[in-house]
Amino acid sequence: MKNSILLASHDDQFTAELKAEFVSRRPEISVFLLGEEGVDQADVAACWYPQADLLTHYPHIKCLHSVAAGVDHLGQNLLNSGLPVCRIVDNHQKQGMLEYVLWGVLNRHRNFDKIRDNQTAAIWHRYPQQAASELQVSVLGLGELGKFVAQGLAEFGYQISGWSRSSKSLTNVHCYSGLEGLNTVLNRTDILINLLPLSAETQGILNQDLFNAMPAGGYLINCGRGGHLVTEDLVTALDSGQLRGALLDVFDTEPLPKTEALWQQKGVIVTPHVASDVSLSTIIDQVADNVLSFSKGDTLTNAINIDKGY
Ligand code: NAP
Repeated sequence: MKNSILLASHDDQFTAELKAEFVSRRPEISVFLLGEEGVDQADVAACWYPQADLLTHYPHIKCLHSVAAGVDHLGQNLLNSGLPVCRIVDNHQKQGMLEYVLWGVLNRHRNFDKIRDNQTAAIWHRYPQQAASELQVSVLGLGELGKFVAQGLAEFGYQISGWSRSSKSLTNVHCYSGLEGLNTVLNRTDILINLLPLSAETQGILNQDLFNAMPAGGYLINCGRGGHLVTEDLVTALDSGQLRGALLDVFDTEPLPKTEALWQQKGVIVTPHVASDVSLSTIIDQVADNVLSFSKGDTLTNAINIDKGY
């Protein structure tokens, strides 16, 4: 049957909510859960951490759709299956990401991190105010989110550099690419924002070498993926003062285990993967529109480049 979809996720509660909302919002699409009767009619799978052997059990699936901005949660098995893969791109999510990152940038720029520390010891200390234009803020990844964040921060007066795989030209952003470009960016960076996708090339990119290439006292904001960060290297950089602090939103294991030392690490703010969300209605509309396009053989919206993996 055309216009049918399989919801494939390890999170039963999320999937049930998504199905209920899907049925009421887009009744023209038939929605099936894993194992449900009739599921073999579905040719598109909407995925959130789906099982690695999904296609063995559901060989009728011909298109994979992430219900998030990233696709790394599909895993290499599905990403390498040869099927088209789409993802969500949402303007509200871009705005939310800019708000989150701005909070982190201001925390360092206006010394709110130190002021919060001082409060615990009842210390009244007024730090001299620095102009935004004196701070170098760099964004790794100039895709849907990184580009929006870089240009949004530039409007606050920060000096902005950005780094991507291919060379770009963006208003108010000094753009760099390639390994040499990365070093140029890092050498001048006060605040580093990671908005790269997680891939074999970017796994562990936030490591000791990268921190050491920044001027001492840098600040890290990681809202890409936990796999980008080498946690032991971050702790070393914080303990030595190479980094002054870090705002971390994403982690290898989520929820971050209660026993994880990062919760107590001086200079670190942990947030529970809340930098920016997509609403259920946006997910449903974008997935449903792509299901209809797929049925008609039309071009899919927000399809990733399978060779690049993002
Ligand atoms: P995107 O549109 O796919 O953009 C990726 C950017 O990274 C592109 O500019 C790309 O360069 C660059 N890039 C990729 N691999 C690279 C490499 N090896 N070297 C240099 N540059 C590279 O991604 P997005 O939608 O903006 O998402 C960015 C990240 O945010 C993802 O990790 C996503 O999972 C995460 N995210 C987090 C949250 C949260 O709440 N924490 C919410 C949404 C998304 P080219 O332009 O040259 O291809």
